[in-house]
Amino acid sequence: MSNDPSRANGTELVRFDKVTKRFGEVTVLDELDFSVATGKHVTLIGPSGSGKTTILRLLMTLLRPEEGTITVDGDLLTHEEKNGKLVRAGERHTREVRKKIGMVFQQFNLFPNMKVQRNVMEAPVHVLGMDKDEAAQRARELIELVGLTEHLDKYPSQLSGGQQQRVAIARALAMRPQVLLLDEVTSALDPELVAGVLDVLSDIAHSTDITMICVTHEMSFARDISDRVLMFDKGKIVESGSPEKIFSDPENDRTREFLSTVL
Ligand code: ADP
Repeated sequence: MSNDPSRANGTELVRFDKVTKRFGEVTVLDELDFSVATGKHVTLIGPSGSGKTTILRLLMTLLRPEEGTITVDGDLLTHEEKNGKLVRAGERHTREVRKKIGMVFQQFNLFPNMKVQRNVMEAPVHVLGMDKDEAAQRARELIELVGLTEHLDKYPSQLSGGQQQRVAIARALAMRPQVLLLDEVTSALDPELVAGVLDVLSDIAHSTDITMICVTHEMSFARDISDRVLMFDKGKIVESGSPEKIFSDPENDRTREFLSTVL
């Protein structure tokens, strides 16, 4: 499993330029700038309500920014250039760019009436138009990657929450996204199931070249997989750096305060 091998690591894959998101009167993100290089794993940390999930939802186009632009792999996500002017993108344009992005949510949302393998094959066949045999083969490989080969023929209800979340990870990867978004993927799980899911994600982070943007409260996981950690507070990045720097020697008072509550 890999991204496009012709794509050199280190180039910019995701970029936010002066992105502002408001809900009514409340400004949740305020002229936010940041970028994520191809192949890198970036973790967003910070107190609840600081805007982390909003960033992932903007990338999934579940939300649209009031101001600013988001670029994915060189393509504008919610805007298009027409006659030299930046205009709101049409549905088709946005859908195409969004194909580059996969997301795993807190809730796994598998199709309950489909067995594990079908869950993983469904979107590649119906959205990407992939040949069924090829999709089935790839689904088996991904299901093996998440350690569920013996559960291929089960329905989601026959699996634990942790196993269902691992199917959701395989399903997201089946679309061959260039960037994988992970939104608190273990917060809905019973504590004893968390480690299995984090181990799978850690394996994927270390053994593939997929780009990841991750929101998590699991700080040892963040430390293990991240190339860079961004600390958010009130919709702004207050500090960013390597996991070693952020977790061992943070400079910002808000970072220190936040880490003292979660470490
Ligand atoms: P985090 O992921 O850091 O906990 P969120 O991005 O979920 O933060 O939320 C940031 C802020 O935006 C919070 O104050 C939250 O209440 C608000 N918010 C998020 N989604 C909505 C919405 N759909 N409508 C109104 N307010 C929202």
